[in-house]
Amino acid sequence: MATRPEDPREPKKSRTNRWQTKLVQPTVHAPGDFKSLATPVHRGSTVLFDRQADVIDDWRQTEHGYSYGLYGTPTVLELGARIAEMEGAFHTFIVPGGQAAIALTYLTFCRSGSHALVPISGYGPNREMGEGLLKGLGIEVEAYDPLVGSGVAALIRPNTALIWTESPGSVTMEVQDVPAIVAAAHARGVPVALDNTYAAGVLFDAFAHGIDVSIQALTKYVGGHSDLLLGSMSVNCKETYESAGAVYKQLGMAVSPDDCSLALRGLQTLGVRLAHLESATLEIAHWLQHQPPVESVFHPALPSCPGHVHWQRDFTGSSGVFSILFAPQIACAQVAAFVDALELFRIGFSWGGVTSLVLAYPTLDRAGKDYGGRLVRLNIGLEETADLIADLDRAIRVMQEES
Ligand SMILES: *Cc1c(COP(=O)(O)O)cnc(C)c1O
Repeated sequence: MATRPEDPREPKKSRTNRWQTKLVQPTVHAPGDFKSLATPVHRGSTVLFDRQADVIDDWRQTEHGYSYGLYGTPTVLELGARIAEMEGAFHTFIVPGGQAAIALTYLTFCRSGSHALVPISGYGPNREMGEGLLKGLGIEVEAYDPLVGSGVAALIRPNTALIWTESPGSVTMEVQDVPAIVAAAHARGVPVALDNTYAAGVLFDAFAHGIDVSIQALTKYVGGHSDLLLGSMSVNCKETYESAGAVYKQLGMAVSPDDCSLALRGLQTLGVRLAHLESATLEIAHWLQHQPPVESVFHPALPSCPGHVHWQRDFTGSSGVFSILFAPQIACAQVAAFVDALELFRIGFSWGGVTSLVLAYPTLDRAGKDYGGRLVRLNIGLEETADLIADLDRAIRVMQEES
């Protein structure tokens, strides 16, 4: 009989013939040397130790070995390692969603009495956390003009503990001068975090541009199929790894290994999906620029996008989400009629999947800017581009008939 490597699931010594015990502690298992291309889904809460003396409760599993499923099974750590490799990070924490990554970043750097800066164009729930939960904890989060560039220096206070960047911004798509903001922040010893979701962690090199923490909603492009929620927090040094890890452990930010396995699969096709989305989205954005009711197209690769020059200088590509602003003569009700008339573009939150999506923002809060409810965000999916343009063309005509 061939000897098998020791299996941690087998009972330690005494064998029993009672079937009830065998159900729980079997002695027979499938052979273990399965060589496939898929990353196994390792589920598990309890991690077994050989001896009491070996028991540790340490989230630093990459260095000290596995201790508890809450800090990640091999599937979870594999995803973290892959994101870290792509982004060039010291370490990547995998968390339940992009919003969880935002929370983990705030709580890593901010204490009661801290001040933090977030762009006005920041992801809505990020700003909401600043005005809600964090305010209640005595942390002041101040919104700043995303196009302020090096002018951010004037906003830094002695207690500023964190500066957020998000480029391009959510919905209004302002591309920030990240290097200028980083230079101003670092001159005062302030760390800079970036929400790098638009670039999927690959079209903008956060760490080469001096960013200290890069977060992503893996829910979007890495997942890529609208069927999972995950986030990542990538850090550039051991010091932040230690402080973020302590918060990560205390918050209990566990994720599902099944979701991580889907994200690992998503990574394998991220390159071809992004390449297709870039060209399809540019074709649609160019077409929209020539439609009379469209006043502006906020796509980072077009000069009409605020901060376009920064995109040109710092990014290696564009992805599949952008916004359009209808002309002032288009009423709010017509914008809604346009959205409702679309057939292939579906109405819903989130983006980055294979399905084209649309959302209007009638009550968008952007201090100093009034878009009059005429802003519409589009997420381009993997449908045939000609069909998407035909859908938009028809919806524009329906909109114009409405008045
Ligand atoms: C969607 C999104 C998030 C939040 O991600 P979830 O996984 O939905 O929590 C954060 N930042 C940006 C820019 C996003 O688009």
